[in-house]
Amino acid sequence: MTADVVAEFGAFLDDFLPQDYDENYQRYRRDVTLRREYQAAAFDEGWLIPEWGRDEGGRNLDGPQALAVKLLGAQRRVPRLLNIQGAGVAAPAIRAFGTPEQRERLLRPAARGDEWWALGMSEPGAGSDLASLRTTATLVDDVFIVNGQKVWTTQADEARWCTLYVRTDPQAPRHRGISCLILDLSSPGVHVRPIRTAGPAIESFCEVFLDDVRVPRESLLGPLNGGWGVAVASLEHERDMIWINTWLETNRALDPALRASEITEAQLVKLGRSLADAEGLRLTGLRTAAQRWAGISSPAWLTLKLLGSESVQRAALLSLEVAGQQALIDPAIFDERLESLGATIYGGTSEIQRDIIAERALGLPKGRS
Ligand SMILES: Cc1cc2nc3c(=O)[nH]c(=O)nc-3n(C[C@H](O)[C@H](O)[C@H](O)COP(=O)(O)OP(=O)(O)OC[C@H]3O[C@@H](n4cnc5c(N)ncnc54)[C@H](O)[C@@H]3O)c2cc1C
Repeated sequence: MTADVVAEFGAFLDDFLPQDYDENYQRYRRDVTLRREYQAAAFDEGWLIPEWGRDEGGRNLDGPQALAVKLLGAQRRVPRLLNIQGAGVAAPAIRAFGTPEQRERLLRPAARGDEWWALGMSEPGAGSDLASLRTTATLVDDVFIVNGQKVWTTQADEARWCTLYVRTDPQAPRHRGISCLILDLSSPGVHVRPIRTAGPAIESFCEVFLDDVRVPRESLLGPLNGGWGVAVASLEHERDMIWINTWLETNRALDPALRASEITEAQLVKLGRSLADAEGLRLTGLRTAAQRWAGISSPAWLTLKLLGSESVQRAALLSLEVAGQQALIDPAIFDERLESLGATIYGGTSEIQRDIIAERALGLPKGRS
C-alpha cells in the first residue's frame, strides 16, 4: 500500500531530521555533514532510490509508490544531495549500461555518495550541441588515449570519477561516433581547474584538460560509439527528479514573498502566477508519470524542464523584488536568486527546450541545429 510506504518513510524522516529542521531550514540547507549523513542513511534504508531492487540498495517499489516517497521527501525538504550527478545521473547510467564488474565496483558508492561523480559532457563550442564535441579517444592496444577539454564540469575538483563523452570514430556521423568512458579523475594527464563564480558556490564549476590520458578499454560505459544513447538515457533518468526538484525550489523561493508584511498589488499578481506555476508543475509532473505507467505516450513531459526552471527563476526574482534592500543581507533571498539563474541553462537551455517542444511535441519544422 502506497500510504503505508509513505508513512514508513515519514517515520524515517522524523527519526533522522533534527527536531528544529523546519524552523532552521536555511541553516541546515548548507549543513554539509547533515547532507552527507542523510544520503548515506536514506540509501542504507532503501529510501534514496526506492524503485531499485533490494540487492541494489532500494525497496523494489513500483512507480507510484516511489514517486509518492520522492514527493514526500520534497514536501519535507529533505537535505539536498551533495553530489547530485552521482546518485541522480551516473548511478542510473552504470546500472543501465555497466558491465557486471562496473556495477559491482561503482554503483553502490555512487548512489550512497561515498564516491563523487562529475559529468564530462560540455566543451567550449559543444554545449547545447553536444554532438559536436571534439575531445578524442583513440583505441591503442586496449587503452583509449584521450585528448581534449571539458568545461562547466560541476564538482570535477572533488569527484573521484567522471562520465566522459569522447569522439571515438571521427569518420562516423556526429551522433554515432561518440562513446562514454568512465574516467578516474586522478589519472595522469587530467588537469582540473576550478572556475570562479559570483554565486555562493555551493557546487564548484571546473574546466577539465585531458592530455594523453590513458583509459583502459574496460572503462567503456555502454557500447563503443554508442555514447549518444548513454547520454540521452542518463538525462532521461532525471525526468521525475527534475520536476520534483524545481517544484520544491519554486515553493522554497516563494517563501519570503509569502511571508512579506508588505506587498504591492502588482507583486500580488505575480505571486498568484508563481503559485499557479508551482501547482501546474506538480500536476503536469504527476499526469505525465501516470501516463508513462499506463503506457500512454504524451509529449507533455517535454514541457517540464522549461516550466520548472522558469518557475524557479520567476519565484526567486519576485521574492527579491518584494524584499527590496533587505534581500542584500538575507541569504535565503539573495542566494536563492543567484542559484536560480543556472536553472535555465543546465540540463538544456530554455531555448533548446522550446526547440524540442516545437519539433517533438508540436511537429513544427526542424530549426538549425
Ligand atoms: C549550474 C550549471 C551546471 C552545469 N554542470 C555541468 C556538468 O556537470 N557537466 C557538463 O558537461 N556541463 C554542465 N553545465 C553546462 C551546460 O550543460 C551548458 O552550459 C549548456 O548545455 C549550454 O551550453 P553552452 O553553455 O555551451 O551554451 P551554448 O550552447 O553556446 O548556447 C549559448 C546560447 O545560445 C542558445 N542556443 C544554442 N543553440 C541554439 C539553438 N539550436 N536554438 C536556439 N538557441 C540556441 C542557447 O540557448 C544559449 O542561450 C552546467 C551548466 C550550469 C549553468
